[in-house]
Amino acid sequence: MPQRKGKRKAAGGDEAEAVELPPEQNKQEAAPGRLEEAVREARRKAAPSVREFKFNKKRVRLVSRGSELKDDAKCILYWMCRDQRVQDNWAFLYAQRLALKQELPLHVCFCLVPKFLDATIRHYRFMLRGLQEVAKECAELNIPFHVLLGYAKDVLPAFVLRHGVGGLVTDFCPLRVPQQWVEDVRERLPEDVPFAQVDAHNIVPCWVTSPKQEYSAWTIRNKIHSQLPEFLTEFPPVIQHPYPPSTPAEPVAWEACDSSLQVDRSVKEVAWATPGTAAGLAVLQSFIAERLQSFGSHRNDPNKAALSNLSPWFHFGQVSTQRAILEVRKHHRKYKESVDIFVEEAVVRRELAENFCYYNKNYDSVQGAYSWAQTTLQLHAKDKRPFLYKLKELEQANTHDPLWNAAQLQMVREGKMHGFLRMYWAKKILEWTRSPEEALQFAIYLNDRYELDGRDPNGYVGCLWSICGIHDHGWTERAVFGKIRYMNYAGCKRKFDVGQFERRYGPHKRHK
Ligand SMILES: Cc1cc2nc3c(=O)[nH]c(=O)nc-3n(C[C@H](O)[C@H](O)[C@H](O)COP(=O)(O)OP(=O)(O)OC[C@H]3O[C@@H](n4cnc5c(N)ncnc54)[C@H](O)[C@@H]3O)c2cc1C
Repeated sequence: MPQRKGKRKAAGGDEAEAVELPPEQNKQEAAPGRLEEAVREARRKAAPSVREFKFNKKRVRLVSRGSELKDDAKCILYWMCRDQRVQDNWAFLYAQRLALKQELPLHVCFCLVPKFLDATIRHYRFMLRGLQEVAKECAELNIPFHVLLGYAKDVLPAFVLRHGVGGLVTDFCPLRVPQQWVEDVRERLPEDVPFAQVDAHNIVPCWVTSPKQEYSAWTIRNKIHSQLPEFLTEFPPVIQHPYPPSTPAEPVAWEACDSSLQVDRSVKEVAWATPGTAAGLAVLQSFIAERLQSFGSHRNDPNKAALSNLSPWFHFGQVSTQRAILEVRKHHRKYKESVDIFVEEAVVRRELAENFCYYNKNYDSVQGAYSWAQTTLQLHAKDKRPFLYKLKELEQANTHDPLWNAAQLQMVREGKMHGFLRMYWAKKILEWTRSPEEALQFAIYLNDRYELDGRDPNGYVGCLWSICGIHDHGWTERAVFGKIRYMNYAGCKRKFDVGQFERRYGPHKRHK
């Protein structure tokens, strides 16, 4: 962004019914905030505030036509969308930097839409509870936090006028709907209000990593790794804001927020995952202390507690992946293999998914697949399916396969299916439905409805990888799958104790 006309240098151009997890996975919540304290100290060491910090402007791009901050600006506004945290958030930091340089108050707002894709009350409550923590932290920092009920295009421009907002900053999500929100606001914003977007979710900003859709992890890996030294830096702190708002924020009516939602309330919250940044950092701390050592060796065993479990907090932006990587990397000497694989998953695979959704407008349909994959699926479209299930049968875990049923029930009850089983689960949906299009539709619907981390680029890419071979290569041809990689029950049995998983999550547990 911009400069205030003839004045100081500024922006962009410048610088319920809850389900328990088994005890060994619940331990994560017990850990006190040791990591939080260490992280606070690391931020303080990076810089006293973002004003003194060398902000990497490649993280920022201008959305509006104009870039000049007007002279009579009354405040700067951060429109928080995807990255729902205060600290470790490049978009928040960028907005504070602008406000500090202009000596203006800083406001933060969140536009609460009544529904979003297939999200249910499970997801909304996780998000709202996280936002309550954001609101509290903002109040402590002298930064008013506002929840605006409705779509940004309907509520944000009026807010901008009412508060004399001189510059608007938002974060970045490559998905269609949030991209449209940004475009709608851009169209309706007064011309003299510069509007900048900051990629606060990826370590290497999505538009910096590559200007095009990457073919696979192989083609993007080096593009990411070669830029990590530049982007994988410590964060400065968001500080108590020295320029007070002319009017304080109205306290948020959280109950009214909840009742404004038009979502399915039958999918209950889960007990194992406490929403919010503090709880997310406790999960990170417990991952490092208890599970990181076996991540490399046991991450593909759904009976073992070896995963980070961080995806819900990453998805809602309550924990920054960059923070997780900074902390996990400190243990490289001790757990080299685990740390390297974690970086591969949480940076390379995750940012590959962002790249795919950003550059491929068909990221959630078979048309988004490579032509070899579309051709092979088409050639096998009429193959006889061994079983055919309707959506309800799948949703209720009523298939002939006890492992698939157990995985489905794990997702329904706990809001998080084990990563290895997600691949098996989606591939079986391809095998048991009438067409790849139907398989993809069912998989995305179930994933987005039940997974806490659903409605995420990782989810669309996970479903397209499993069903349409995205980022994969062709395998030996077989019925239904064609050249798409195949997985079966016998293969799972070779990898882990399938019976143990089925006993733990199988349908008999329903009546408990
Ligand atoms: C069919 C299918 C659906 C999926 N749906 C989702 C989804 O909706 N949301 C989601 O975040 N992930 C999804 N994934 C990717 C992956 O399974 C989850 O990210 C992972 O299981 C989350 O658990 P964790 O945080 O304990 O992972 P860990 O194994 O501890 O990994 C750490 C982080 O790395 C990233 N990561 C791990 N595996 C992948 C991957 N294959 N692709 C991209 N990033 C990855 C995630 O951000 C994850 O939180 C899906 C995968 C498949 C095959």
